[in-house]
Amino acid sequence: MTGQAVPSQGGRPLIEVRGLRVDYGLGPDAVHAVIDADLTLAAGAVLGLAGESGSGKSTLAYAMTRLLRAPGIITGGRVLLHGGTGPAGEPPGTVDLLAADEGQLRQLRWSAIAVVMQSAMHALNPVITVGAQLTDVLEAHRQQMSRTDRRERAAFLLELVGISADNLRRYPHQLSGGMRQRVMIAMALALEPAVVIMDEPTTALDVVTQREILQELAGLQQELSFAVLFITHDLSLLVELADSIAVMYAGRLLEQAPASDLYRAPRHPYTLGLLRSFPPLHGERRPLTGIPGSPPDLRTPPPGCPFHPRCGFAMDVCRAEVPVAIRLGRAGERSAACWLHDGTHDLPAGLAVPEPAAAPRPATGTEPPARPLAAATPLAEPTAAQDATRTRR
Ligand code: SF4
Repeated sequence: MTGQAVPSQGGRPLIEVRGLRVDYGLGPDAVHAVIDADLTLAAGAVLGLAGESGSGKSTLAYAMTRLLRAPGIITGGRVLLHGGTGPAGEPPGTVDLLAADEGQLRQLRWSAIAVVMQSAMHALNPVITVGAQLTDVLEAHRQQMSRTDRRERAAFLLELVGISADNLRRYPHQLSGGMRQRVMIAMALALEPAVVIMDEPTTALDVVTQREILQELAGLQQELSFAVLFITHDLSLLVELADSIAVMYAGRLLEQAPASDLYRAPRHPYTLGLLRSFPPLHGERRPLTGIPGSPPDLRTPPPGCPFHPRCGFAMDVCRAEVPVAIRLGRAGERSAACWLHDGTHDLPAGLAVPEPAAAPRPATGTEPPARPLAAATPLAEPTAAQDATRTRR
């Protein structure tokens, strides 16, 4: 397995994705869209999932929530939802969402996990008023609520996201793009879920509206303490918004780290390239170098490291072997899937920032022991071929 399970930032693990694999199509022509993904989302935390278009971010999210449509097929892995709202009448426990039946999923959707789609215009029903769409969710999941209470709750939800309750009678096309996206967020929060998955929720909006919505979202997340998986191609946005960030490329998670650590000291060349594609938030101005080339066609992915055709640090081993994920940081709180971190290479400038002198973290019994970078540990055992490659070098 090449995924990178790193300790979650924030509270207890709420969702654990382990070894998730998703294909489009069957047989030898199947396109591997998500390969051995390992992710942990902590209760009350914001986990950002970044990467270029086509990297598999949305596919991963829809597979996690069992919303993936054909020809997408989940071919392996587990998605564990811990201690959340279990099916009605049952005690909270751990549910493997990939093994859950339709009845369980129906109970968990909206009440435990809600999704905000990219395009509110497509997600909202154009011929039903906003109020009716909000009360529909409540009617389906809170059958004991009276009609008056549902109406009041819908009005409260709209006000919560900064829209006057007068808009309950309006249809989606009568609202601006920003208001429609706020309605989607209100709908997602209707049943106070533990997790909200947001798939590029502000991409289609102008930057002013985008910032307003993100500020409101951050305030709501603090106030209501729900966890967020926030998907975007905009890494700079995640640096401000997220507690931790996972970077995806060609179906693989290449780096995971606390957001501030990833911004201050990226460990993967792809992350470094993404960070050098937008102006720094603070400090000196620097030239924007970007990343040469384009993401690979997943029907014909390159051998070895999927990023090697675009990587300025590529070595022979990168062209032949898929890098295993290496756990990094003083407490293994981050990881990177790159041969540069196998302990036998001097790290190039940009990736060789020393770890800061951090205060010792209390041992929890679940964290790996602190280790220097040079003694970093692969999360997966190297294959015999990989060992042979290392020996040859
Ligand atoms: Fe670059 Fe090699 Fe690291 Fe891939 S494994 S990111 S090609 S140095």
